[in-house]
Amino acid sequence: MSQFWSKTVKNLTPYVPGEQPKLSQLIKLNTNESPYGPSPKVLTAIAAATNDTLRLYPDPNSDALKQSIAKIHDLPTNQVFVGNGSDEVLAHAFLGLLKQERPILFPDITYSFYPVYCNLYDIAFETIPLKEDFSINIEDYIQKNNGKNDGIIFPNPNAPTGKALPLGRIKALLQSNTQSVVIIDQAYVDYGTESAVSLVNEFPNLLVTHTLSKSYALAGLRVGYAVGHPDLIEALERIKNSFNSYPIDKLAMAGAIAAIDDQDYLKRISKAVIQTRENLIKDLNELGFETIPSYANFIFTKHPTKDAAAIAAALREKHIIVRHFKMARIDQYLRITIGTDEQCSTLIKALKEII
Ligand SMILES: *Cc1c(COP(=O)(O)O)cnc(C)c1O
Repeated sequence: MSQFWSKTVKNLTPYVPGEQPKLSQLIKLNTNESPYGPSPKVLTAIAAATNDTLRLYPDPNSDALKQSIAKIHDLPTNQVFVGNGSDEVLAHAFLGLLKQERPILFPDITYSFYPVYCNLYDIAFETIPLKEDFSINIEDYIQKNNGKNDGIIFPNPNAPTGKALPLGRIKALLQSNTQSVVIIDQAYVDYGTESAVSLVNEFPNLLVTHTLSKSYALAGLRVGYAVGHPDLIEALERIKNSFNSYPIDKLAMAGAIAAIDDQDYLKRISKAVIQTRENLIKDLNELGFETIPSYANFIFTKHPTKDAAAIAAALREKHIIVRHFKMARIDQYLRITIGTDEQCSTLIKALKEII
């Protein structure tokens, strides 16, 4: 605390990201990065961009990147917004779309950045408890409708549970909730969930966000995007152009275009992660773990007798890091990112010794 801090800073409770350890000999299964590298075409494109024109500012509108994204979703470019990671896209959406009069709604257990943005931008919110089995009950959001909410946001699949809603449920929500913005955060959609992008032209209040950090294996590049009605996109552009004209630098732009253009590679590595995930769930079940069926590149699991924090600490001693949340309802669970087959075998071996 300092006398020089603004009132805003004094009142902040910042988001705490998963640890990025400086040691290299670790099996890092704590922040849902891809165990594989990005498409080789990404590296070639970035290398070409380095000796090109770094002395110049990048295109403030990132038009070429928007074109690549628009093409894979079969939408015009005025329905695409790009930002410095989907966290930045979400931040602009909170300020530009979700900051209204009445509270916005999101699940009690979800991406923990949402309440942080609410705190930063002074947005009222109400959390809706997940059902006992950790699924999102759309009816709870529909009942709250009747003009009582000014926005709804959740990831599909949800994090950190990995549970997904079928597209029909998202559609039911949109059909009954027409007067406030609904944001579906699709950070993990490529691991087996039906995309809500097909609904954006039917529902002008639907914004769907994506990231290149998980399935495209580009967490270090910082690129995310949103698709929706042109009016929603314009709101995000207005915020962006009042904040930072150049969120996508030239290298990120080159790399992101190459990644988006290589859909075959994306499908290949996503499929590999899904396969490893299913094997890992089986192996964990044999050790007595109870694992929630996952549609993400991580699993959410608990052991019936062994304390989750104790398991996480014991794994750490064996140089394996997983994520544990000290939070009501989920403090006996571990969130484990899907690694390579080899990393997962090492994890299982370590857990056998611990349990
Ligand atoms: C990882 C993640 C993000 C943020 O991704 P970046 O593009 O790296 O900022 C957003 N939402 C959810 C649910 C995530 O898990």
